[in-house]
Amino acid sequence: MTALPPPSAKKLGLVIDLDTCVGCHACAVACKEWNSGGIAGPLTDEDPYGARPAGVWFNRVHSYTLDALDEQPEMTLHFPRSCLHCETPACVAVCPTGASYKRAEDGIVLVDEDKCIGCKLCSWACPYGAREYSEVRGTMQKCTLCVDRIYNETFDEADRQPACVMACPTRARHFGDLGDPDSAVSKLVAERGGYDLMPEMGYKPVNKYLPPRPRRDGCASQTGSAPEEKMDFSTASPILRWMDRILSR
Ligand code: SF4
Ligand code: SF4
Repeated sequence: MTALPPPSAKKLGLVIDLDTCVGCHACAVACKEWNSGGIAGPLTDEDPYGARPAGVWFNRVHSYTLDALDEQPEMTLHFPRSCLHCETPACVAVCPTGASYKRAEDGIVLVDEDKCIGCKLCSWACPYGAREYSEVRGTMQKCTLCVDRIYNETFDEADRQPACVMACPTRARHFGDLGDPDSAVSKLVAERGGYDLMPEMGYKPVNKYLPPRPRRDGCASQTGSAPEEKMDFSTASPILRWMDRILSR
């Protein structure tokens, strides 16, 4: 089993805005391209040119139609899912070889593929389904927060962000230090009531989600329609309860 470092002051992570995500999958594809594509390589790593190309996706986007819930009207919600770089990650604690580890300097959770024996314990432990086993490589993989981009001094400063954040056309993804209360991402979370996914599990995810806002025209979402007074997103609890239901299936 692998020990965790003391909690880091710097907590790099993502803030994902469920209000503006349109489910286009640009983030998932940009992530895939950056992490496995290259200029000549196939985008997918398992059956890339077959009828059902698949493989490892560090970032996946799920789209749901929510039935009316707690007097909120039916709505469509797009939910991007990747590693949340938990402060007390179950995936690290269960790793028998030290392959999964959390960086003391910035809190990023990584996998050292040279140490990974492909036992999949981490993927069973992660409650968010964020681990991706590569049948091709025989090792576990996951979101690295594009650690090879964000510290890359050969890039312009504006480009030192995760590929998913750079690609998002609606700016639904934000990257920064959630350990710094004065950072832009922390302020965004405070302003918009950002929340942890499944906080009751106790893994303290660093990534935060911003709940959908009421629409000016009274519609709940891209597809919903209802009078504005019926909306109550002042607390995120209905969405949280729904998210719990989905992830607990
Ligand atoms: Fe580990 Fe899952 Fe948390 Fe990522 S989301 S740090 S894979 S437990
Ligand atoms: Fe949502 Fe942005 Fe990802 Fe598109 S790129 S699915 S809008 S988070």
